[in-house]
Amino acid sequence: MRVLVAEDDTTARLIIEAAVTSLGHECIVATNGEEAWRLFETADVEVVISDRMMPGMDGIELCRLVRTASKDTYTYFIFLTIFDERPDVISGMEAGADDYLIKPLDPGELKLRLHVASRVTALHRQLFRQAAELEQLNHRLFEQSRTDSLTGLGSRLKLNEDLDAIYTQAERYGRNYCAIMCDVDHFKAYNDSEGHPAGDKVLQVVARTMLNLCRASDQIYRYGGEEFLILLPEQDIKAGLVAARRFRQGVEEMAIPHDGNPGSGIVTISAGVAFFSGPENKSIEAWLKEADAALYRAKQAGRNRVEAHEPPSAMPEPPSQPSLAGIGTS
Ligand code: GH3
Ligand code: MG
Ligand code: MG
Ligand code: MG
Repeated sequence: MRVLVAEDDTTARLIIEAAVTSLGHECIVATNGEEAWRLFETADVEVVISDRMMPGMDGIELCRLVRTASKDTYTYFIFLTIFDERPDVISGMEAGADDYLIKPLDPGELKLRLHVASRVTALHRQLFRQAAELEQLNHRLFEQSRTDSLTGLGSRLKLNEDLDAIYTQAERYGRNYCAIMCDVDHFKAYNDSEGHPAGDKVLQVVARTMLNLCRASDQIYRYGGEEFLILLPEQDIKAGLVAARRFRQGVEEMAIPHDGNPGSGIVTISAGVAFFSGPENKSIEAWLKEADAALYRAKQAGRNRVEAHEPPSAMPEPPSQPSLAGIGTS
């Protein structure tokens, strides 16, 4: 162990240093409290053996400082002093000391006390290590539960938390949001013909494609099996439609063969867009239902399409969009 000795008396200091070293420990010495504190702050010290009476900062003050220091190891603090009355021992222990020895130093006694110190500091080191591992594990679990394992997108738990935050932001600061609900077209048929593992790969590609087309401020989640939800902050319905068309087109351009998708023969998505301007107008649930209803209309209208919840009259049709399949791309 590395032992720090704080002792203003030269003879006493030399005796303690010799005893500590002869027991196989490393010893660093300080002639007063301030010097000891400076050494303690910079060196990795496992044990402090300190006198009580020293010029300037005394042993009690040093002990209190050592106890307030935030280190990731425990320091075993031993007083070695001539103050042998019970109140002295009590005040020393109350300052945070682990042990109390009376001068003159008995090397045999010191050996025993350092033996205990070694056990206690080792135990503390193990505890600190376990706490750090636990914290890391907690962090990993936190991330894992908020990430969909197949696609790497946000999970339903993350979505629910973010929706709570969105509700507050909209209520307090009048922030607006757009939701885009996307669903892979005729995906059951894809699984049926290509198998579930191949279907999983398609979901990963579709997720990555959409993620790449998101802006940094957008959030994308796996909403359900083959359904994805994108939340766009500070975007109106027009901007939401533009983004949704970008996603639809992006997936189409991947041109993943899908014989079970009539007409196009490739993997496509449909999307529904809805706007949220605050809880005074509608609830979060109602907002997502609107996006879902718009998605349903996109499906009804032939799939590989984008529909907004708001009346189409408010939404002028865009100029013709490129489409591999050449089918409905509102
Ligand atoms: P629609 O165009 O109306 O959306 O038709 P659909 O076939 O995509 O819709 P339906 O709801 O009938 O089927 C969804 C399919 O998505 C069924 C299910 O097997 C598949 N699916 C859901 N989750 C997963 C998944 O994690 N992996 C794979 N491979 N398939 C999934
Ligand atoms: Mg002294
Ligand atoms: Mg679905
Ligand atoms: Mg589907």
